[in-house]
Order: sequence, then C-alpha cells, then structure tokens
Amino acid sequence: MFNKEAYLKITDQLTAAQVQLVAVSKLKSPDEILAAYREGQRDFGENYVQELSSKQPTLPEDIRWHFIGHLQSNKVKYIAPFVYLIQGVDSEKLLKEINKQALKNNRIIKCLIQVHIATEETKFGFSEDEMMQIDYRLYPNVEICGLMGMASFSEDIDLVRKEFSTLKALHVKFKSKHPNAEILSMGMSGDYETAIKAGSNMVRIGSLIFGSR
Ligand SMILES: *Cc1c(COP(=O)(O)O)cnc(C)c1O
Repeated sequence: MFNKEAYLKITDQLTAAQVQLVAVSKLKSPDEILAAYREGQRDFGENYVQELSSKQPTLPEDIRWHFIGHLQSNKVKYIAPFVYLIQGVDSEKLLKEINKQALKNNRIIKCLIQVHIATEETKFGFSEDEMMQIDYRLYPNVEICGLMGMASFSEDIDLVRKEFSTLKALHVKFKSKHPNAEILSMGMSGDYETAIKAGSNMVRIGSLIFGSR
C-alpha cells in the first residue's frame, strides 16, 4: 500500500539534496501507483516487461516509465514505444537492440549504462574498461544520460559506501568524455542515504514508499 507519510518525508529529504526520485512500483497495482501520482510523483520504475506493458496503457500518459534492472534484448520491442529511461544497459547486444527499436519507433531512447560495482557475482553490468571502450556513436538513437549501479546487498555499510564511491568516481571520469551523461542512479530503500552522501543524484525507492512486495 502507498505510504503517504513515508513518501512525503522522503521527497522532502530528496528535494533538499536535489536528488531525483524514481518510485519503484513493480508488483504494485495501478491504484497504488495512482495514489503516488496524486501526490505529484511522475517517475516510476518497473522491472518486468510484461507487467510494465500491461500497466502502462491504463495509467496517465505523463508518467515517465523507467525500466530498472536487467532487460532481455528480445523484450526491448515491447517497451520501446513509450519507455522514458532504460536504467541498466548491461551489454552491447542490448544497446544495439535498443538502438534498433528506437529507430523503428522513430525516437531516441534515453539510457543509463549499468556498471558492476558489487562484490556479488549476481549483479549485472559492465566493468570500467568495457564501459569506457564502447563506441557510443554507433548507436545514434540511444542517448546515454549517465550511469547506474547497485551496491552489494549487505549490512556492511563500509562496503556499500566504498562501492558507491567507486561508482561516483567512475561517473566523474565518464562525464569528462560524455558531458551530457549527468545522471548517477544509485541507492534503493535500504541504502539511499549512503548513496546520496556518496554523490548520487537519482534514487530508486520501492518498499519504503509502497511497502514490502
Ligand atoms: C526493486 C528494485 C529497486 C527498489 O528496491 P527497494 O529495496 O524496494 O527500494 C531498485 N532498483 C532496482 C534495480 C530494483 O530491481
């Protein structure tokens, strides 16, 4: 259920820090999304293609849909007509497919490059070298807007802080080559305050706003 009190508290905190909020609404109903929408929320994050493409037509058109997390290349076509920002481009194959589908839809799709910063094996993303070496000019219908990363799911706050600082440093480096890549998306319900202190300017928060899934 949408927790208005928590939402208002978080948005105050984020406004003061000039950090953008993506409200992660995966597995949440259109009614719950509308409750947040009525409080002024416009950026929502989803990470299941089928769920997103069935919810999107039922909800207001001015919602900016962020696809967060791992996206399979063969599913890009379903979200390409309307997605606002694909957070989590983690392979060149995916980048190529997004470019192709963007062209088909006669649009430019905004993307973030996902960087692997966690010590865990399971998190997706490019290494630093890979991400710096891609020739983004090959994908003119993709607009690279910044970087995204996920820290280890860990109680060890020093580890999480270190991983976020690594990503922040990579973002500075990336921006020197790609000046328009302003976004640094890092931080979720459990670690967003640590992420903001490390320099995040976009957080993806689900359970704190909508309750557990
Ligand atoms: C689910 C998810 C989130 C939000 O997680 P919460 O812990 O509920 O805030 C953020 N980012 C990604 C990539 C996710 O899959």
